[in-house]
Amino acid sequence: MCKEYRRKYNAVNRFDPTRTLTIRDKYSQDFDRRYKKLIKSVRGTIFDNHALQIRLNQAVFIPGSSPDMMATSFGQWLLEESDEIVGGIERDAQGNVIAAEGWQDKYIIAIILSAMRQSDADLRKAGVRIPIKSEMDYLNDPMVRNLINEFRAINYNAIAGVNLDMSSQAAEALRDAIADGYRRGLTIAEIEQNAFDAVEDRINKIGRTRSEIIARTETIESHSETKLDNYARNGVLSVGAIIEMEFVTAGDDRVCFQCIALEGRTFSIFEARGIIPVHPRCRCTWIIIKIARPAALSRTAA
Ligand SMILES: [Zn+2]
Ligand SMILES: [Zn+2]
Repeated sequence: MCKEYRRKYNAVNRFDPTRTLTIRDKYSQDFDRRYKKLIKSVRGTIFDNHALQIRLNQAVFIPGSSPDMMATSFGQWLLEESDEIVGGIERDAQGNVIAAEGWQDKYIIAIILSAMRQSDADLRKAGVRIPIKSEMDYLNDPMVRNLINEFRAINYNAIAGVNLDMSSQAAEALRDAIADGYRRGLTIAEIEQNAFDAVEDRINKIGRTRSEIIARTETIESHSETKLDNYARNGVLSVGAIIEMEFVTAGDDRVCFQCIALEGRTFSIFEARGIIPVHPRCRCTWIIIKIARPAALSRTAA
């Protein structure tokens, strides 16, 4: 029965076992849109406002305009700008997130509700009597509320960390570009261009790359842990993994061996904690293998 269900489930959802691809795509695109806005702001600051105040031949004499000092103040500016535009967060002097605008919430809530609906459906199939619930029912459930708060904090802290790394590396790259420009006797326009290119590169390689991983991996973790919480609350004793099947590309059948190694194995709910995501961009999820007798549970499962 269970095997049969799993085969059917895999046949339908083999590329997207959690069925959350649309949410992850949208979350990732939202980050990307914000990073593009950030790059536009950097462009305006460097080229239109000449905020770096590069003065040829005077750089070492004017207090505040050495490459080091420029880099420090630029890095601080970039951090504040990226926290505002990309993260929607505010942090205290220690770098801790103290407030969030919360644009990420709709994705986080959608992921958790998806996991609750899927795990409730799995539980019903396994014989646990669980009523059909509305979105409001889910949002009023204290377990769901705690999960939302927990995953909001994880997402905000993750983007705060990305912005911090990105800004400090962008500041270093900017300092090197300016110092190099002075050494080689470049014009102000050339130095500004090189400084901008160096910063844009860090925004793309750190900000955009790592935020995409947040959107695609933290979500899978939230989804997986939410399902395990709901299973645990309803007497599920053990789970197996529904593994992702890799996309087949022009004669090139890429298989993820790390995830395939999970197939056919059984984990207690306790052991299953923290296994998924197996790696960044993992798409796997859990399915019920063994449950305490449903008849005995139905009284408490509502
Ligand atoms: Zn994998
Ligand atoms: Zn996986």
